[in-house]
Amino acid sequence: MRGLSERVKAMKPSATVAVNARALELKRQGVDLVPLTAGEPDFDTPEHVKEAARRALAQGKTKYAPPAGIPELREALAEKFRRENGLAVAPEETIVTVGGKQALFNLFQALLDPGDEVIVLAPYWVSYPEMVRLAGGVPVEVATRPEDGFVPDPEAVRRAITPRTKALVVNSPNNPTGAVYPQEVLEALARLAVEHDFYLVSDEIYEHLIYEGAHFSPGTLAPEHTITVNGAAKAFAMTGWRIGYACGPRGVIKAMADISSQSTTSPDTIAQWAALEALTNLEASQAFIQMARKAYQKRRDLLLEGLSALGLKAVRPSGAFYVLLNTDAFAEDEIQAAERLLEARVAVVPGTDFAAYRHVRLSYATSEENLKKALGRMATLL
Ligand code: PLP
Repeated sequence: MRGLSERVKAMKPSATVAVNARALELKRQGVDLVPLTAGEPDFDTPEHVKEAARRALAQGKTKYAPPAGIPELREALAEKFRRENGLAVAPEETIVTVGGKQALFNLFQALLDPGDEVIVLAPYWVSYPEMVRLAGGVPVEVATRPEDGFVPDPEAVRRAITPRTKALVVNSPNNPTGAVYPQEVLEALARLAVEHDFYLVSDEIYEHLIYEGAHFSPGTLAPEHTITVNGAAKAFAMTGWRIGYACGPRGVIKAMADISSQSTTSPDTIAQWAALEALTNLEASQAFIQMARKAYQKRRDLLLEGLSALGLKAVRPSGAFYVLLNTDAFAEDEIQAAERLLEARVAVVPGTDFAAYRHVRLSYATSEENLKKALGRMATLL
């Protein structure tokens, strides 16, 4: 039997997806587990969005869509980027994708030649380095430190730049650290992109989930060098609908759409009509986002207070819905920490694949009741 490609053999499957699947399986078997693993809102998709999908179905909007997305949604995206992010883009400079993941995947396929380097800020979202490698690129890690609140130092990024640097990935608010980068840091990174002529990949999928500070889109400073990636998943509790989107220079967006045309054809048509409702029914959508943000903030505070009362260390996250917990107090490393917590019936994600060593990631996209239960179990464990 002939084997798999070297490219695939070198790839790691997503640790977060795997650990979440394991927690769900244990739950299914009747184990009373508190899962703090999810990278998704625990709220249901808002009703106005579901209704738009039902309407699309009833109207027979069930056929192939253009590779870059239905024109109505691309127009709405151009308007959204203008209104919320200060980015002046035409509909042709936007693309709809199968989740934010496909936007990033296509982007690296479009940009990278073998050996091209992509700077990723560690701890990072697990998929960036793997997607870069799958595209033949080389991820180059630049560390961010807990003592800096996991905010990157632009000078450290500058030192990692080489003639092969093709892109820098920035994710604020950040998964897994929850850090929200100050505007001046994002401005400095955008200036580096222009000065050294590489692409800034700005993953803004958690833009609406900020509890302190404000969101800033670095593409405003470097429009020719920035691809802004986003999606409906986190803002509108639409993870399963698989709608992501991006904007950037026309040529790059066209290449991304061409890749879609030869792979997925287009994102699900019904889901695109639902996403259009999410992006254009501003009153209903903003009410949903505000409700969710308030709930996450309350949960974050509950979790941070509980962890601190247990004498555990975690950098206070200002955005997204994750806390990186330092595990030195109860384990030798993050793998042992995750195992000990699982024995105590609390599921978390070990930081290993995020390059967040001696940390585990806790998601607070779950009920206050669950968080209290988890804290109680951690107290017993300790
Ligand atoms: N970017 C970050 C930082 C994420 O955490 C995720 C999902 O967990 C994504 C992108 C992709 O999200 P989706 O493909 O569900 O839109």
